[in-house]
Amino acid sequence: YHGKRGSSDIVVYAGENMAHPTQWLVVQAELRHALTRDELVLHYQPKVDLRSGEIVAVEALVRWQHPQRGLLPPSEFLPAVEQSGLIEPLTAWVLRRALADQAMWTATGRSWAVSVNVSARNLEKPGFTDFVSGLLAEHGTAPHRLLLEVTETALAADARCAAQAVIDLTARGIGISVDDFGTGYTSMSQLRGLPIAEVKIDRTFVRDVLDAPPSQAIVRAVIALAHGLGSRVTAEGVESPEVAGWLAQAGCDEAQGYLYSRPVPWREVGTYEITGAAQ
Ligand code: C2E
Ligand code: MG
Ligand code: MG
Ligand code: MG
Repeated sequence: YHGKRGSSDIVVYAGENMAHPTQWLVVQAELRHALTRDELVLHYQPKVDLRSGEIVAVEALVRWQHPQRGLLPPSEFLPAVEQSGLIEPLTAWVLRRALADQAMWTATGRSWAVSVNVSARNLEKPGFTDFVSGLLAEHGTAPHRLLLEVTETALAADARCAAQAVIDLTARGIGISVDDFGTGYTSMSQLRGLPIAEVKIDRTFVRDVLDAPPSQAIVRAVIALAHGLGSRVTAEGVESPEVAGWLAQAGCDEAQGYLYSRPVPWREVGTYEITGAAQ
């Protein structure tokens, strides 16, 4: 399907609104094409160590270079991907691309780890751990240089299944990160049994941490919880040096956000000056 479309067609990409079966077919066909024709691209956003100011890792964020619509953010197509059974091939594509890109930046002397976002469905799929291990072996990548970001909601979706996957992946040396922490429904007892490498504080709390005492309380509590469980803490959505400074004071380990860089192609990572390093 490559017909010309009007702006109202954007509704096709909003998962909840896809009631019409032919619209579903169009989206599915387009997404299959996107996967086979390499229309997807990965941008990377640095994770910065708040003490040293150095980039320690980068997070892969998928975009769709749509032939008619231009560069689409994940919110425009991930719901359709999730609901049409294409999340498996999408995650496979993202992992391969990210590991290939990482091999290139490693060859140019950067030791950055790479974070890849995965969905609940990926974790529930038997064989996912073996699949990821196989990809690491193919690329000659040490498992600790890959981190899989799982939203808190995904962990809660099918607690037992996801928890087992987390345990298996960690046993192979692959790091697990709990994304958007504070917005989902993970219970303390679920976290207790899980080997979590990183907790990411959702940007809704980070955004107003300077002037909202409740957000300050939540951020401090998440930092204490994560450290108590032996995890690193990363704050997402850091947009000002003042927020970065506050987080560093509060003991947060790493930060990500527009202050340092928007997501960019890997060759552009680190070409900017880091202004937010606290100290
Ligand atoms: P996320 O994993 O929580 O990623 C952070 C999102 O916040 C990204 O949006 C990023 O561009 C944005 N962001 C980063 N710093 C700032 C900031 O300082 N201010 C503001 N306002 N926003 C900031 P993006 O790239 O649109 O991705 C949205 C979500 O889509 C991601 O949230 C993640 O859940 C999902 N996603 C992205 N790529 C993939 C993927 O390859 N696979 C899967 N399953 N999900 C993905
Ligand atoms: Mg993420
Ligand atoms: Mg996040
Ligand atoms: Mg988020």
